[in-house]
Amino acid sequence: MFNKDIGIDLGTANILINVKGEGIVLNEPSVVAIDEDTKQVLAIGLEAHDMLGRTPGKVKVIKPMKDGVIADFEITEIMLNYFIKKVKAKTLLCKPRILICCPTNITAVEKNAIKEAAERTGAKKVIIEEEPKVAAIGVGLDISKPNGSMIVDIGGGTTDIAVLSLGDIVISTSLKTAGNTFDEEIIKYIKSNYNLLIGEVTAEEIKKQIGTVYNGTKKDKMEVKGRNLANGLPRTVYISSDEIEVALKDSINKIINAIKEVLESTPPELSADIINKGIVLTGGGSMLDGLDILLYEELDVPIRIASSPLTCVADGTGIMLENIEKIGN
Ligand code: ADP
Ligand code: MG
Repeated sequence: MFNKDIGIDLGTANILINVKGEGIVLNEPSVVAIDEDTKQVLAIGLEAHDMLGRTPGKVKVIKPMKDGVIADFEITEIMLNYFIKKVKAKTLLCKPRILICCPTNITAVEKNAIKEAAERTGAKKVIIEEEPKVAAIGVGLDISKPNGSMIVDIGGGTTDIAVLSLGDIVISTSLKTAGNTFDEEIIKYIKSNYNLLIGEVTAEEIKKQIGTVYNGTKKDKMEVKGRNLANGLPRTVYISSDEIEVALKDSINKIINAIKEVLESTPPELSADIINKGIVLTGGGSMLDGLDILLYEELDVPIRIASSPLTCVADGTGIMLENIEKIGN
């Protein structure tokens, strides 16, 4: 019987599913809307994301994987179940094998809970993999050789930094400064400089449209609407790229320092490999304007942004599924 094996990138911001032989068939935000009174799930994924910041009091939009830890396990399981059903991987006659990549800093208990949740969806076998490893495979690095590669994955809830060699992670760290932090910093900046309150969806839009982390590479302006905290009325202001660079400075410095710490503890032969090959940036945060230039200046190591930063983990699961018989845990 033909098995429909699937790979899942269970990200803190987005969940992607790759079906063996078909490619990425699902790409939706990791968001769930629930009715607080009845605890009923109202919407999941894209539909729930559209409700963010626009719900009546009793409706709550939850990001269950926020910050890379599983804030709400029950909701995570409902979400996982829903998406696996949606891609119709399971039929009466065949049970899929599932390869799941989770944030690196979840606990062993959480990891096991995800495994069990996936098994309950009717999987024949569930394999949990570390995200940086799958991201490296997804961007086309050959990590099986005794040669060092470095991945910096800036997602929604976490930034994961890892050095890989001989198929495994040699050294890694994970910090909670990532895409969501950038949005929060933009909200704070606009609040303290303009006395204007904006929502997280607007903050993310600002970051993507005019955001930069390097002074001078982007000179855009954007009209931003929110609530004037002085009189409670709607108000429009104009924000520039330069201002976003200021707002994101502290967060970016935290990421740079974390990369430096990992480089400092990397065995010298692997450091030499990293100088030759460069650091590969993955995850949605790697698309921030100027990040590659800033990192090159700060670290003096070549920087390469993955060609598809948002899908490389899911792409990696596709490559790993081709050899699923050889892997297991
Ligand atoms: P995760 O793996 O944690 O789900 P992703 O790799 O999917 O995260 O990245 C999601 C993050 O990337 C979000 O914080 C989002 O705002 C950010 N992002 C997406 N596109 C861009 C962009 N063009 N510029 C800056 N950040 C972006
Ligand atoms: Mg990710």
